[in-house]
Amino acid sequence: MSTVILVTGGTGLVGKAMEYVIENEPAGSRFGKRPDEKWIFASSSDGDLRDLEQTRKLFEKYKPTHVIHLAAMVGGLFKNMKYKLTFLRNNILINDNVLHSCYEFKVQKVISCLSTCVFPDKVEYPLTELTIHNGPPHESNFGYAHAKRMVDVQNHAYKEEFGCNFTSAIPTNVFGPHDNYDLEDAHVIPALLHKCYLAKKNGTPFIVGGSGKPLRQFIYSRDLANLFIWQLREYDSVPPSSFAGGGSHTRIFPAVGEDEEVTIKEVADAIVKAVGFEGSYSFDTSRADGQYRKPASNKKLLSLIGDFKFTPFDEALAESAKWFLDNYNNARI
Ligand code: NDP
Repeated sequence: MSTVILVTGGTGLVGKAMEYVIENEPAGSRFGKRPDEKWIFASSSDGDLRDLEQTRKLFEKYKPTHVIHLAAMVGGLFKNMKYKLTFLRNNILINDNVLHSCYEFKVQKVISCLSTCVFPDKVEYPLTELTIHNGPPHESNFGYAHAKRMVDVQNHAYKEEFGCNFTSAIPTNVFGPHDNYDLEDAHVIPALLHKCYLAKKNGTPFIVGGSGKPLRQFIYSRDLANLFIWQLREYDSVPPSSFAGGGSHTRIFPAVGEDEEVTIKEVADAIVKAVGFEGSYSFDTSRADGQYRKPASNKKLLSLIGDFKFTPFDEALAESAKWFLDNYNNARI
């Protein structure tokens, strides 16, 4: 094998989608498995990446030539608001151990996963990779946001000092099979799917936290998986940008243009349809809304990737809902 690709966080929402794409796309195709590649999808039981020695052992065992770094402490708005220091520390430790091991083990290319949540609260829209450090993040998730922003700083420093090919990708909200459906800790789509499922099962009202008015861009996890594979294999040619411009080659991955955001109410409507819920539902305006909107531009991405089609939102949501309903007993709930 000439290429060994280690996916940290390989058992999470995005990691499982990567595994699905690699195994289900035709072998040798643009996104399918290639004969010279070995893919490793690591979980926390293969090594706790908050611990440097365990991280080194993982690298020693697999000797990766490429790393897609997804592992992180992740959660929805309410979990982020409650555990700011824990988000900060765990993610700083994970990222520092992984990136330093990539340097020590001479990994040829690393793509780490950031998030559009880490952008400044007050910033010019649409978001681009040029504005990530231009102001404090939203108060609700400053622990997670500062830890993730440091990855961009680290990538730049590793490039400057050691010439490492460390880069990142910045997805918008992700959803899909294998999500975290915990009612309090999950992101909006899996949390609402779970709530709607229970409302249908128990014959109770479906109550959506917040006003329903905030706007969001979502990306289907399997589309995101394709984009990571594209970035790993095909996207390597843009020269490093300045420090204020973020880490070298960083790309933002929204599924839709900034003029096609959806409201949380539209998401709830689609969930009601996908779950087949026939009762009425309402909005609990006493719950926090978070940032009102944070659109990102996908123009540059689309101009670079060429022929690529995102899964339509309703279709992706229906697939995700079906997976959740079929796997309720084994899902993270
Ligand atoms: P999940 O919570 O679904 O999965 C997290 C993954 O990280 C799991 O594989 C988990 O392993 C692993 N992990 C967590 N802590 C540790 C640790 N201490 N040591 C080793 N592995 C660990 O996350 P997602 O798939 O949703 O997120 C993947 C990436 O995408 C993250 O970097 C996240 O910040 C980013 N992102 C996610 C978005 C979203 O909407 N979900 C939006 C934008 C960015 P285990 O299964 O063993 O617990």
